[in-house]
Amino acid sequence: MKNKTRILIDPGHPAKDNPGAIHEGVFEADINLQVAIRLGDKLAAAGFAERYTRKDSLPVELYDRVHIEHLTKPDLFISLHCNSFSSPGVHGLEVFTSVGQTAADQAATCVSKCLQRSFPASSFRADLSDGDPDKEAHFYVLDNTRCAAMLVEMGFLSNPAERAWLTDPETQDAIAEAICIALIEWRDNR
Ligand SMILES: [Zn+2]
Repeated sequence: MKNKTRILIDPGHPAKDNPGAIHEGVFEADINLQVAIRLGDKLAAAGFAERYTRKDSLPVELYDRVHIEHLTKPDLFISLHCNSFSSPGVHGLEVFTSVGQTAADQAATCVSKCLQRSFPASSFRADLSDGDPDKEAHFYVLDNTRCAAMLVEMGFLSNPAERAWLTDPETQDAIAEAICIALIEWRDNR
């Protein structure tokens, strides 16, 4: 039997000096974890082997998250975050990989397309300039992990409508479902 594809789920924040975005009593770190747990359950049901960089509210530093990746050597690292901006009008979802062609590009493309399909009413902030919809950035966890690594910004907590949307358990389940379907598609076409 083929080995299970191993996914390391990284619910972004909190870290000691970085609690994550907080707006109107809504903590990014909490939403990230709620979606992460749902994603892990769905991945397990779909035959993946899932792990987490954290499964409770205690702070985990970025270098510890990367260290867990080095130790566990997953096939894919996926970090979940919510965004924040000074202007409340900004909204939408984004998927990031590290800069250049990376092992995560195919998975990131699957996730980007599935999020767009699943949430037609939300805007997807794509960067198509390099031929795929994900954005590229030098995030610590993307630059320092060794496996395919991607980061999903699930929406802006600074936008009131998107904040309400993200705190809804139905939304959290739907985001987890969309990511899970995308990762099944990615796994089955590797
Ligand atoms: Zn974040």
